Amino acid sequence: MTDRTHFDGVLIIGAGLAGLSAALAAAPRRALVLSAAPLGTGCSSAWAQGGMAVALSDGDAPALHGADTIAAGAGLCDPEAVAILTREGPDAVRRLASLGAPFDRTGDGGFVQGLEAAHGRARVARVGGDGAGKAIMQAVIAAVRDAPTVEIREGVRARRLLTDRAGRVRGALVEAADGSLTEIVAPATILATGGLGGLYAVTTTPREVRGEGLALAALAGAAIADAEFVQFHPTAMDLGLDPAPLATEALRGEGAKLVDRGGARFMPRYHPAAELAPRDVVARAIESERRAGRGAFLDAREAIGEAFAHEFPAVFAAAMAAGLDPRRQPIPVAPAVHYHMGGIETDADGATTLAGLYAAGECASTGAHGANRLASNSLLEAAVFGTRAGRAAALAADPGTGLLAATAAPDLPDGALQSLRRAMSQGAGVVRDGAGLRRLLAEISALEAAHGRALPLVAARLVAEGALARRESRGAHFRADYPQLGAPIRSRVTLSPAPAAAAA
Ligand SMILES: Cc1cc2nc3c(=O)[nH]c(=O)nc-3n(C[C@H](O)[C@H](O)[C@H](O)COP(=O)(O)OP(=O)(O)OC[C@H]3O[C@@H](n4cnc5c(N)ncnc54)[C@H](O)[C@@H]3O)c2cc1C
Repeated sequence: MTDRTHFDGVLIIGAGLAGLSAALAAAPRRALVLSAAPLGTGCSSAWAQGGMAVALSDGDAPALHGADTIAAGAGLCDPEAVAILTREGPDAVRRLASLGAPFDRTGDGGFVQGLEAAHGRARVARVGGDGAGKAIMQAVIAAVRDAPTVEIREGVRARRLLTDRAGRVRGALVEAADGSLTEIVAPATILATGGLGGLYAVTTTPREVRGEGLALAALAGAAIADAEFVQFHPTAMDLGLDPAPLATEALRGEGAKLVDRGGARFMPRYHPAAELAPRDVVARAIESERRAGRGAFLDAREAIGEAFAHEFPAVFAAAMAAGLDPRRQPIPVAPAVHYHMGGIETDADGATTLAGLYAAGECASTGAHGANRLASNSLLEAAVFGTRAGRAAALAADPGTGLLAATAAPDLPDGALQSLRRAMSQGAGVVRDGAGLRRLLAEISALEAAHGRALPLVAARLVAEGALARRESRGAHFRADYPQLGAPIRSRVTLSPAPAAAAA
């Protein structure tokens, strides 16, 4: 027996920076935030290392930040989304600072700004060198716990969106830790479920982040945009851990070099910007060196050396825990899934193509990242567009029409999930081709036949079908069988919603 409750406010699924920013912005309207894991865990936001890109220094400007964002996006950025992101970024960072996020400061009280790949200026606001995500999330979590308008439920996972006959989204069917199911009916629902790294065998994201919001929206009939664009972080530490710990981009910004097993630098052979080339170029170069048997290592001994422990404490701790001292040894690195540019299509206020449904953060596709995200633009997107979605969703009213019956999406047993992860890394990885993508789709179909349309399978299919349909190479999507650039067209897919009976 499924319970039903009514919540007269904004239902937010996901408690990373996007979900919590939306919850604060919805005030004075009430917000109910559901998090699959305890707050501050199971979300990429708390793992972010580098920081937030914002034009705050003399000589920088939102337009320059926007131009770098558009250049990285390889022809697919939506200029309006980019303008909003870069224009509203400085206020978003000041707002987070006012909540207590301890950004690194200059002597005169300004923000320390670091340089990262493909940025024309040093513009990444950092916290404690490489601790941005954890510190920002601590401040935001404290703020939502204090906010009288925000209610938080941890250990609760969304298993289906509720819809009515008009196709409007009316809340979600959710599962508590004890397995009980409840329909939460609400006038507005925001999906803020993050990316999909957990669909791949090698990822830098928490394993729990596996495209479930994308799948929930797609199954309800929302348009999904650019699903094939998955960004691989070039320098995950290859130390045999799952997820793979990240060696932040900022290390290369500080001068660390990529070398092969013999100690020779290889990036100058691949791109004039060498170690600071766009992520996809660096990821493919590392993949190619590894496939050629030469290996790939990040050598920070000369550029950072003894300062490593205090300048990059999180990376240092992860390396030391695995028995590698980055002050004395080059770090073995490999590309790992890191970010999803595509997602649930939204407008500038987070509205999806379905009435009553909003999306924000990594699960959304605002068009701000195009075919490739510029480093440190995603925490920013979560804060800026999470806030906009929260404000817009707070205006929604309950139409009071009858709901359609909803059944929970089936579970995917762990063994099947691990098969899917291996198949995704093989078939939809850094370098793709038609034959590999067709093998991957056959594997997904076999898993669907055995286990039903589980949410990770729906999300994986969206990525694989998008990648098969895109017969060109652009940004983070590289097809060995179509290496050339085609027309700059965003992709858009809508699944037909499953037929459902009317409920009481
Ligand atoms: C190691 C690492 C380093 C990074 N470094 C940076 C950086 O320096 N700068 C930068 O800009 N970006 C960085 N990123 C990317 C950035 O952290 C993310 O893109 C961003 O934090 C996404 O925020 P979000 O709120 O959309 O999702 P997340 O923070 O991932 O939160 C998703 C939430 O959804 C919940 N959830 C998922 N599915 C369900 C479900 N079915 N039901 C209920 N809840 C669900 C999860 O429990 C979680 O609470 C990094 C990412 C990683 C992994």
